[in-house]
Amino acid sequence: MLVIDTSFPATGFNERYGEPVRQVILHYTALPFASSLRILTQDGVSAHYLVPDPEEPSYRAASYDELRVFRLVDESRRAWHAGVSHWEGRDNLNSRSIGIELVNLARDDAGVFTFPAYAEEQIEVLIALLRDIVGRYPQIEPAGILGHSDVAFGRKSDPGPSMPWRHLHEAGIGAWFDEATRAMYQRRFCVELPPEVEVERAFQRYGYAPAKNRQGFEQRTRAFQMHFRPRDYCGFLDAETCAILYALNEKYRGL
Ligand SMILES: [Zn+2]
Repeated sequence: MLVIDTSFPATGFNERYGEPVRQVILHYTALPFASSLRILTQDGVSAHYLVPDPEEPSYRAASYDELRVFRLVDESRRAWHAGVSHWEGRDNLNSRSIGIELVNLARDDAGVFTFPAYAEEQIEVLIALLRDIVGRYPQIEPAGILGHSDVAFGRKSDPGPSMPWRHLHEAGIGAWFDEATRAMYQRRFCVELPPEVEVERAFQRYGYAPAKNRQGFEQRTRAFQMHFRPRDYCGFLDAETCAILYALNEKYRGL
């Protein structure tokens, strides 16, 4: 059951100027509910939705009967959540996306990350919200359900490897690869990885921005792994990572 609360409208947004919604971008707040709500409604950043963590103390203190979703910006307006971003050859994804912030107390201590698990109920509410959104925007394809790190790698790590993307896919939301196709490619790539120029093309074909240099290549690999191979997101390109990428392109990009 999806309960949408609209009593905390954000002030930071503008018009979409007719751009159709093509992506949904997931974020974590790295802050408790109360401060997330304050920052997302009063400062220069915003998002369409905020999904609290039911166990987080500042949400419990608010004494709502159920886990509700807060709509801060109307979907017809352009919220300010993605910043400098890129997907499928397009920049500035705020214009064409819906942004969802999830309360999660992830930490970045000078590059050492802690990614706590998302609450089970929070993910179930997120799935209900995403089903509702995707039902109203048929042009949002599975591969268009993205993490902030997918569209701003190197700069952002949210929603992090704790986001259960595979579970979302099994609930009918977002992309995931076919296991048999992944295994077929992996057997091939264990013998020899494809040339890096081909891997570069494959990343871009799926939607990722080009890598400007070696560091960018590794940051993008890390972002991809956080999404599709969360048990190991070291940023090193290996046979399994390549195989997942090729399996995704085969399934969603017709190649
Ligand atoms: Zn973010």
